[in-house]
Amino acid sequence: MTRTAIRTCPLCEATCGLRITLDGDRVTEIRGDVDDVFSKGYLCPKGATFGELEADPDRLSAPRIKRDGRLVEASWEEAYEEIARRLPAIVEAGGPDAVAVYLGNPNVHNLAGQLYVRPLVKALRTKNVHSASSVDQLPKHVSCGVMFGDPLAIPVPDIDRTDLLVVLGGNPRVSNGSLWTAPDLPGRLTALRKRGGKLVVIDPKRTRTADKADTHLAIRPGADALLLAAIIATLVAEDLVDVGDHLRDHLAGLDDVARLTAPFTPERVATACGLEAEQIRQLARELAAAERACVYGRIGTTTQRFGTLASWLVDVVNVLTGNLDRPGGSMFPTPAHHRGMRRPFRMNRWSSRVSGLPEAIGELPVAALTEEITTPGEGQVRALITIAGNPVLSTPDGDALDAAIAELDLVICIDPYVTATSRHADVILPPPPAMQRPHYDLAFSALAVRDVANFSPPVLPLDATRPDEWEILLTLAAIALGQPAQVDTAAADAFVLHQAVEGVANDASSTLATRDPAEIIAALGDEPGPARLLDLLLRAGPYGEGFGHDPDGLSVEKLRAHPHGIDYGALKPRVPEILRTASGRIELAPAELTGDLDRLSTAADAATEDGLVLIGRRHLRTNNSWSHNVAGLAKGQRLCTLQLHPDDAAERGLVDGGCARVSSRAGELTVDVEVTDSLRRGVVSLPHGFGHDLDGVEQRVARANAGVNSNVLTDRDDLDRISGTAVLNGIPVEVAAV
Ligand code: SF4
Repeated sequence: MTRTAIRTCPLCEATCGLRITLDGDRVTEIRGDVDDVFSKGYLCPKGATFGELEADPDRLSAPRIKRDGRLVEASWEEAYEEIARRLPAIVEAGGPDAVAVYLGNPNVHNLAGQLYVRPLVKALRTKNVHSASSVDQLPKHVSCGVMFGDPLAIPVPDIDRTDLLVVLGGNPRVSNGSLWTAPDLPGRLTALRKRGGKLVVIDPKRTRTADKADTHLAIRPGADALLLAAIIATLVAEDLVDVGDHLRDHLAGLDDVARLTAPFTPERVATACGLEAEQIRQLARELAAAERACVYGRIGTTTQRFGTLASWLVDVVNVLTGNLDRPGGSMFPTPAHHRGMRRPFRMNRWSSRVSGLPEAIGELPVAALTEEITTPGEGQVRALITIAGNPVLSTPDGDALDAAIAELDLVICIDPYVTATSRHADVILPPPPAMQRPHYDLAFSALAVRDVANFSPPVLPLDATRPDEWEILLTLAAIALGQPAQVDTAAADAFVLHQAVEGVANDASSTLATRDPAEIIAALGDEPGPARLLDLLLRAGPYGEGFGHDPDGLSVEKLRAHPHGIDYGALKPRVPEILRTASGRIELAPAELTGDLDRLSTAADAATEDGLVLIGRRHLRTNNSWSHNVAGLAKGQRLCTLQLHPDDAAERGLVDGGCARVSSRAGELTVDVEVTDSLRRGVVSLPHGFGHDLDGVEQRVARANAGVNSNVLTDRDDLDRISGTAVLNGIPVEVAAV
């Protein structure tokens, strides 16, 4: 029987509404949901093939256990027993830090991942928690943590109301937004220009976004912080600073940031940036003159040697031009869920054992993982749990990490595939397909350009032979706490709920602060799982029904009655309410960041045009390493190539379609060549997430289009000093014809 289901796409940050037609359990068509309050029918090629991804025959439907070097199918009981037999023994011998955790990017697209990974991590008590955040976005969390007191308070461009958008190191026409949730960004960017607004893109590559911009400045990789410092120096020198009445009383360090950036004049940084001094000055003047403007920095700014400085200076420019926290500028969303009492941000509460890399947002940089495995001594990592992650392909120095993981005593992967990483697993626990799970975007509603809420119930019933993902996570948590493998997950979930309710009730800022936790728990019902926890967070949130406080307010039930979502309107100013700094102000010149300006100063004067540097790139049809097994996306595509400028190619005797050897301090690879004038001279580009042809990988489409792992070239010792994030953009490389 044919039917239609409405569901949010879980494949990227844009959170588009999907209209899914099914014949029984089989998806026959996917279209954009024209009634979705946020995406209004927009759909990209990935969303259109969501059904193919869900029905992929390479997905595991049962656990695997390694026996005699081979991954063989096992029952859930056997898989849990194996873990219960081996995991506690490793903790007993080496302590909690002997177990490392790696959380992949799909966790933030998954309600169970958002709500139940934390109990597992708490149960493990390990300091060695790593995630995809420290591959590409940790510097932004750190800069926002220090400036605003909350690492999750990340302002986003108010694209629908701005007059001037400056994009550094981002390609939103292809990525569809990153740390910025705005479905149909191509349409929104076109609308900006149609209403007379201007788009400026600063990127070493003439990306698809740059191609459609009013101005493209082809900066040298890694020079964004210098450019931003020079913009600030110009604003100050030309008396163009105007923070606006709305911010004037909420700032600290305005004079300091002006003084500290003064030496970075446009003339001084021009060579390092590969731009003319006058281009920099002109951009500063345009930002100051625009009625409403915003600067947005993305992956090119966070995966470089000055990632945290660049992330900080983006927001300083927005403040100094009066564009932070005002319509058309860079604004803080108000997510519909209760976010809890947030203490002032602190980092470096612990550090990695071997290199002393700093903790931030409760995790250590993944650049530390390989050496934590390979370096003997107390606290050496001997077991790894990956959750929806493929660090062998996604994280720095991939070959070395691959070899290190192979030597571990125990590897547990919660993963639907046998990937480059999970092929090392002793136990693989496959979660159910996304359409069998409820969905709500907790992370992305906090980055969205409108305040929206949208809940998707499961499209298909959970397969009776397998546990839900939240049950897998709570079972592992219980085993980590020393319990036997047969876990009463409903009871464990009741405990999690109890703790969550206590957390809300203890939050003085919550409307539930004076309420009896038992009354709230009773009102939430007895159906375990993420929808119940979500219901608590929505009912306690800013639009929530507050357990009787506002009968028209938000709840899961209300969202079930609004399958296309609820739009709570355009973003609203949130300063000072959102600030969590000790001073209660926006810290414009925090010592944690200004202490790195000497290093930036050295880089300003050490600029050289010699040699090649490597940058990454995104493609509309891929999402990191996790959409490469979809035939409909891979077909007829030439995705994993080394792009370089015609003059750089000619100098090395390279031709389009030929083959090149690329080498860096960390490693080398051989890859097909694509000659294109879209890159500035001296810059070459490889996409990330490829390299699926390793022994044992069971992803047939991905293997057939394997490509190369660009992370073989990334150097885990070449880091953004403040956050410990590895440099992925601006890696010195040599390229030679093969
Ligand atoms: S843009 Fe992102 S959310 Fe929208 S359909 Fe494509 S993958 Fe899905």
